[in-house]
Amino acid sequence: MIIELNYFLCYNPSIMRRYIKLNEYLKDKFGERVLKIGIDGGFTCPNRDGTLDTGGCIFCSERGSGEHLKNTESISMQVKNHLLSYRGKRANKFIAYFQNYTNTYDTVENLKQKYDAALIDDKIIGLAIATRPDCINEDIAKLLNSYMPKYSVWVELGLQTANEEIGKIIHRKYTNNQFQKAVLLLNQYNIDVIAHIIVGLPNEDEKSIQDTVLFLNSLPIKGLKVHSCYVVKNTKLAQMYENGEYTPITLDYYLNTLSYIITHLRPDIVLHRISGDAPKDFLLAPDWNLHKKWIINGIDKKLESENLWQGMYYEKAGDNNATKI
Ligand code: SF4
Repeated sequence: MIIELNYFLCYNPSIMRRYIKLNEYLKDKFGERVLKIGIDGGFTCPNRDGTLDTGGCIFCSERGSGEHLKNTESISMQVKNHLLSYRGKRANKFIAYFQNYTNTYDTVENLKQKYDAALIDDKIIGLAIATRPDCINEDIAKLLNSYMPKYSVWVELGLQTANEEIGKIIHRKYTNNQFQKAVLLLNQYNIDVIAHIIVGLPNEDEKSIQDTVLFLNSLPIKGLKVHSCYVVKNTKLAQMYENGEYTPITLDYYLNTLSYIITHLRPDIVLHRISGDAPKDFLLAPDWNLHKKWIINGIDKKLESENLWQGMYYEKAGDNNATKI
């Protein structure tokens, strides 16, 4: 695996960047601020439409993430309205981000139509697609590759955990092996993969976090999204929470675990996010999830005060006795 060593060297504690933050990475890459435009592409998910199951993952909200997006508007209109709004004045470059549900779950022809519908302005310089690993195939990888090099293309793949037992509990309905295959296939077509994991899933323990980090480090991923598990109304997790079968994690636990992940993560992986976007009106617990700053400032403070940085224990990630959460 080729690690972008030059880039890593730019991000060492001597210049006070303790982990690679997406906004800084994009600014370095494109020479200016780059923001995302969240898009609801009108997709569904095989874990919801009955192909695999109907209930979805236990934490998945009714809108399949991206609750704030308006699925009543066409894709082009969503982009246009975003660019015309105050948010469109905050940058000159944007990434069209297909966010809700499984954004590769359609025919290649329909996918092309939907992706093309977002690329309506010269300010759009990238295409980001959130999906699940069992909805990636070679034709889709070829389609995504066809947008390069004009556009930066990345795929966000849900892993959530590398512990197969927890994978069953959360009802994700795919395996680590399927995740690995999707990463390698996308890599073959030069498409950046951003993995998505959740801290605080039911039955999680130190070992499952360590195994997840080891698994991620072993794959040619370019980025990572981490967020804490939160309970949203009308989900299976909400039922578990109300029945006393699930206890949400504390902010302290999250910051300690996040610190473990960052310090053991490969030093070239860009952290795309470290906090979730819990929808205020639907959130049942934990309350601290609504305070992104508590998380972002909390981890900055912890890394600074304990003199920790990304990848400092990367070599020891598999050694249970060397470093603990
Ligand atoms: S794969 Fe994603 S969209 Fe589908 S049920 Fe799970 S979380 Fe929801």
